[in-house]
Amino acid sequence: MSDKKTLLIVAGDGIGPEVMSEVLRVIEWLDKRRGIPFEVTQGLVGGAALDAEDTPLSDATMAKALAADAVLLGAVGGPKWDGLPFEKKPERGLLRLRKEMALFANLRPAPVFDALVDASPLKPEIVRGLDIVIVRELTGGVYFGEPRGITPLPEGGFRGVNTQVYTTPEIVRIARIAFELAGRRQGRVCSVEKANVMESGVLWRREVQALHDAEFPAIALSHMYADNCAMQLLRDPRQFDVIVTDNLFGDMLSDEAAMLTGSLGMLPSASLGEADAQGRRRALYEPVHGSAPDIAGRGIANPLASLLSFAMCLRWSFGLDAEADLLEAAVKGVLDGGLRTADIMQPGKARVSTRVMGESIVRELDKLAG
Ligand code: NAD
Repeated sequence: MSDKKTLLIVAGDGIGPEVMSEVLRVIEWLDKRRGIPFEVTQGLVGGAALDAEDTPLSDATMAKALAADAVLLGAVGGPKWDGLPFEKKPERGLLRLRKEMALFANLRPAPVFDALVDASPLKPEIVRGLDIVIVRELTGGVYFGEPRGITPLPEGGFRGVNTQVYTTPEIVRIARIAFELAGRRQGRVCSVEKANVMESGVLWRREVQALHDAEFPAIALSHMYADNCAMQLLRDPRQFDVIVTDNLFGDMLSDEAAMLTGSLGMLPSASLGEADAQGRRRALYEPVHGSAPDIAGRGIANPLASLLSFAMCLRWSFGLDAEADLLEAAVKGVLDGGLRTADIMQPGKARVSTRVMGESIVRELDKLAG
């Protein structure tokens, strides 16, 4: 990787630009206080791009995304664009980014901060200290498999078909991400499928086990059926470190895991592509939440999911582990200090705006960095 660190920021719609302003504050801090400059370019996506460029993502922005070391996204969508035809919807911009950047691995951490343990719908003793990551395969499986479609039946009515399909290379590359991630964490991977009723699940289990035995014997690997995993996430979520699973099961299990935290405004994500010869991956980082049109423009959105997504970017795209740790510690410090945006407000705590939350993170970074 060259010394120049390039970032494309596509803030999008609704609260996207508001939370991204606070990420820019941290980017500036890294330059001034740590001597780590980023070359930042901004672009439009979603409704903002539709309004200005008549497309949810222009070719020029797509080209910038492909050229950047990493892309930071805010959120897309809103009622203004709801009635548009499918190919013009704001979400098409995000889907185009994911497709053309070939982002096959979606990493969704579900951290429960001590200060927010009461926000979980589960009992504090079940979720306190929870720290899991779901690694979801993003470009294969039943959402993309052929044949697919709806065909009429001769006797009337229709037949709807989708096909669950996975190949060895698709399974191996996502499993590799999970093993590498676990190696930097608690060293445990749980691979999830339905090998009891699906051949694609049998292959998934076989390939994950083979990769483990050949290259990652030090990682503790277990296998679990997806229905059992859904139950175990509620019964005893702390048994998991890294869960790796396919597109369909990952879609559901990552939302279930997110709800264990109870705080949508706190959840980051990363989507990664294949590594090139230099180990560089295309990568997109975004909060899990949407554009929150109900609170957009009021300056009260929680920027922490975007800041935690940027921490993932520092770690995965730039190998800046110390700075990622620092940013995560700053988030923890500010929460422990009692500051809350409206969405995570609790009795006896101080309610702050998006901007004050961002400024407080920077002050905490100053303090932690000494
Ligand atoms: P949402 O995540 O935008 O909002 C759900 C609820 O959570 C709202 O009450 C909102 O105010 C609150 N919320 C979300 N993020 C918050 C934050 N950072 N701080 C404080 N409160 C927050 O989901 P939705 O309402 O279902 O969707 C709104 C729009 O966003 C739709 O157009 C949808 O298509 C789009 N969307 C986009 C993405 C994305 O860009 N990746 C993801 C989900 C939804």
